This record gives sequence, structure tokens and C-alpha cells, in this order.
Amino acid sequence: MKLLCTDLDRTLLPNGDEPECAMARPLLWQMLDTHGVSLAYVSGRDLDRVLDAIDEYELRQPDFIVADVGSSLYLPDTGGWINSEDWQRTIAIDWDGMTGDDIKQHLRGIDGLREQEASRQSLLKTSYYFALDADREALTDQVADRLEAVNVQAALVMSDDIENAVGLLDVLPRQANKSGAIRYVRSLLELAPADVLFAGDSGNDVAALVSAVSAVAVANADTDTQQAISHKSRLLGTEASTYQAVGGLKIAGDRSLNGNYASGIIEGLVHYQPAWRTYLLDDNWVAEALERYPPASLAVASKSA
Ligand SMILES: [Mg+2]
Repeated sequence: MKLLCTDLDRTLLPNGDEPECAMARPLLWQMLDTHGVSLAYVSGRDLDRVLDAIDEYELRQPDFIVADVGSSLYLPDTGGWINSEDWQRTIAIDWDGMTGDDIKQHLRGIDGLREQEASRQSLLKTSYYFALDADREALTDQVADRLEAVNVQAALVMSDDIENAVGLLDVLPRQANKSGAIRYVRSLLELAPADVLFAGDSGNDVAALVSAVSAVAVANADTDTQQAISHKSRLLGTEASTYQAVGGLKIAGDRSLNGNYASGIIEGLVHYQPAWRTYLLDDNWVAEALERYPPASLAVASKSA
């Protein structure tokens, strides 16, 4: 395992309803250090909101950032991030020279769709809100029909923003999804599918979760996603590279990880690399992880002491 590609919200970021194990992220960072695993964040967020999350949750700096559900790929550049023009060129072909503004014109007036804020739109991503109880099939059919009529090869990705009780629809070039972007990063690094672990939790992660790369759905993934993964991996014959975390992974000191968020990512890593489990059971290794990366709760406790 040489590269971890992880979704952020409710996969690495503990911002769902389920509890996070305080030790999970320290152990994950230590595991990446021990085995020299590179890191990519793969998110529906735009670059600024990815960087906000890195600050807010004190995440490690990644080697790559895939933002806007796969329609942007950022590479590290002196002191900042640079948008990969090669990836932009690759995906732009699907839209036949059109941009997000052109797509909006073609989708104007569809009942039940509301354009998202300008900051959430990009050159090759057009995003809408819809009501959570909307007829999703009817909406996607209408959008697909209009785009087909103008020769646009698009991927339509729906997800739920539970916090704000609204549905999100992203219209993207067909190849511009998390799975396509991961494939591209994999080719840059010349890695085999088994060298990459993808971790995710919801609708826009499903294609990558059932792709050829090793993948883990964290235990807090929503039920619809869990069912979609089981179903699709069976259809595609990728069950061997699609794992769903369940929790209960034993670690040193007779403790266990609950499978949510970073715990689920760790469970995925040791599922595909069973030998790495030895480290989790080693008291010294665990103690070193907690010393090097003090869990937030401990940091707060020691600050106030
Ligand atoms: Mg997520």
C-alpha cells in the first residue's frame, strides 16, 4: 500500500453523528509514517474548503488534493497548490469545449433544481440544490436528456447535505469523478490498483469504492451507500477490493477501534495489509503515535491543566 486516497467529510473528518475514537487519527498518521504511504484528500469541497478542513481538524498536509468531486486536481507547488492543467485538459474533452456557464444555460428552467452559490461552481463543475424528498430519477432523466441533446458527456452525482437538509447535484465531465481522478494520480505515480487504498462514506464515493483499487467504506457510511457498494461490487466482480469496516479492531492495551472515520480507514489498511496489524498491537508503537500526535482531547486537557 503506497498511497491513501481519502474522502474528507464523514470519512476522515469526524463531522457525522457517530463518535470518533480519540486515538484513531494519531494511529493513522503514525501508520502512514511507518510505511511511507503518500496521502491524497479526495473531496467534494473546493480547494479553499479543503484547506479550511486541514486547519480546522489539524490534518496532515497531503501530497495531492482532488477537489470539486474530482473535477480539479491540485499538485503541491512552492508554498501553495497548483491546478493540474493536464487533468483539466483530459476531462474537458467530455464537455466538447463547453464550460459550466454553457451547461447552466442548457439546464435553465428545470423544475426542482436551484443553482448553488458562485463559489461552489467551477469551470468544469455545475452544481445545483434540490429538495431531499424530490423525485431523483425524474430530475436526473431531465438533466441527462438535455445534455445528451447537445452532445455533452456528463456524470451526474447526487449526494445529501444532511447538515443543511438539502440534496446536492453535481454535473461534471464524464471522467471527472473521484474514481477517474484517482486513476490519473495512480498513473502519475505508476502505482498498481492494489497499491492504493481509497476510503469513503457516501454517494459520490461509490464509484471509487467499487473500482479496481483497494477500497474501504467506513463503518459510519450511510445505509444507502453500504447497500449500493454491496450490490455494485457484486455486479462488477470487485468484491475482493471493496471492504466495509465494521469496527472492533483490537489494538494494544486491550482497546479496540470503532470503525468510524479514521478507525475505519485503519481497518481498511490492515484488511489489505494484514502484517501491519502487528504495529497496532505493539504498546510502544501506539505510545509513540500518541506522543507524536496527541489526540485533540488530550491536547485540550493538557492545555487547560
Ligand atoms: Mg464524505
